[in-house]
Amino acid sequence: MSLPALYGMEDLRRRLAESAAARRLPQSILLTGPRGSGKQRLGQWIGAMLLCEAEERDRPCGACRSCRLADELQHPDIHWFFPLPAPKRASGPEKRRELLEEARGAALAARRENPLLEPEETGSAAIYLQIIDEIRERASRRPAMGRGAVFLVGDAERMVPQASSTEAANAFLKLLEEPPSDSVFVLTSSRPGLLLPTIRSRVLAVRVPPVEPEEVERFLEAEAGIEPGCAAELSRRAEGRIGRALRLADPEEDLRAPAVRMVCAALSPSRGERWSVAAGLAPSGGRGGYADLLDSLESVLRDCITLAADEPGFAADDGLASEIPGVGQILPERWISALSHVDRARDAALGNGNPQAITAVLLSGLARELRPAGTADRNGSAGRGVTGAS
Ligand SMILES: [Zn+2]
Repeated sequence: MSLPALYGMEDLRRRLAESAAARRLPQSILLTGPRGSGKQRLGQWIGAMLLCEAEERDRPCGACRSCRLADELQHPDIHWFFPLPAPKRASGPEKRRELLEEARGAALAARRENPLLEPEETGSAAIYLQIIDEIRERASRRPAMGRGAVFLVGDAERMVPQASSTEAANAFLKLLEEPPSDSVFVLTSSRPGLLLPTIRSRVLAVRVPPVEPEEVERFLEAEAGIEPGCAAELSRRAEGRIGRALRLADPEEDLRAPAVRMVCAALSPSRGERWSVAAGLAPSGGRGGYADLLDSLESVLRDCITLAADEPGFAADDGLASEIPGVGQILPERWISALSHVDRARDAALGNGNPQAITAVLLSGLARELRPAGTADRNGSAGRGVTGAS
């Protein structure tokens, strides 16, 4: 099976292709954007475009040998790396590296089998030093097909699995400082602020724009075989992110309801309810499914902002007003401040914290932000003064 076609992002793609044709594309690029926005898919596209054998204005042509190998995730000169769980039973660095390569091979094989697969994540997934060693060794080799090599490093912020260890990031920095002449490095990150500043200063940061809702819908129908009505609904909730739409399409992955419950618990006068929501989460795995839950929570909060700002019909979820009692009684500014608590929880989760503890802190933060001063302030002053967290 080959990669699904890339939808949307036409302007960005044109600019990247023009820069490449003019030999102005930097050797190190950082694609940023929220989770599920297609950063790594765009990274694959950049790889195919740079190594395509067709005339410059047609790249990537999608038809040459290089493009076909790229589409099948079989290109010997497009090297795709991403966070992997810590290998068990690794006796030393060499063994560790071998096991990590095996795991990467298995993940790529699963992707080839099902290109729409969203990567499974576990709490310990990181870009370990041995992964960087593998990248460095590959970068020192001559490209197999002779046109150059592209290294795609997904979720690059996970080069620092623990705050105390920066060795992987520093090893990677050395590579960026003296990249082999025929290599291009494409990093992706939804949390670029967590990258080492020295790495950030070495890369051209490019923001991946949201995909138009019609394009998301088209993708879901054409590539994922989703019914038109359902595709439209998913597209409405996906905020221009195809990866997010795919996650939402999986009923087991639909985290909207638990996210709404979190908001209700924060608004509830009962502290016990907040604790029971926190205690209902898995105590580990802070980076995987929990990150998705935080994404959902952010999206629910954004809808609350819209509802509170009195623009019904604009929010992606019209049923929210009935699910979250009193949502419109709280000043939009308070909902906006609430978002920063989600960011803090994300940082804590990346440090591999315990989701229960993080959620308990998050919910009391939200409770302080949203009640009870928020409700009192509403009387007569809706939409006017910013009271903040007084
Ligand atoms: Zn081509």
